[in-house]
Amino acid sequence: MSFRIGFGVDFHQLVEGRDLWIGGVLIPHHKGAKGHSDADVLLHAICDALLGAACLGDIGVHFPDTSAEFKNIDSKILLQRTMQLIINEGYSIVNVDSTLCLQAPKIRPYIIDMQTTIAQILNIGKNDVSVKATTTEQMGFVGREEGLVAYATVLLSK
Ligand SMILES: [Zn+2]
Repeated sequence: MSFRIGFGVDFHQLVEGRDLWIGGVLIPHHKGAKGHSDADVLLHAICDALLGAACLGDIGVHFPDTSAEFKNIDSKILLQRTMQLIINEGYSIVNVDSTLCLQAPKIRPYIIDMQTTIAQILNIGKNDVSVKATTTEQMGFVGREEGLVAYATVLLSK
């Protein structure tokens, strides 16, 4: 059996008048993430980690933000399609670990929902999907609530 590790990171601005989707879960907040799709920072980071592990480029290559097809698209669909690319290469997912970085709102109440949603799409156990959250202690663009960041690592086996 061979193993491949992958890493992904994603950033989005937080703006008024947008929904806040994180990890496939709609989170009530006065700001949402700006982007071409639904701007789900966590699912995008996981997509990039999966693609990275399989050496298949990045999310922008497969789902370009210039394409009308992906305008306001649900990122769960992007994750599903990414998963299919991974399967096509003969890989299966061992586990996902991730960290969200944002100042507000508090993410803890939504983490189990995120884990369940992501695990379902990736067809792995809920305990194979770790989602953690941290702030930047009020520092920088995250601390000023101008944006949010997600980091993800995955392990694939073949
Ligand atoms: Zn993104």
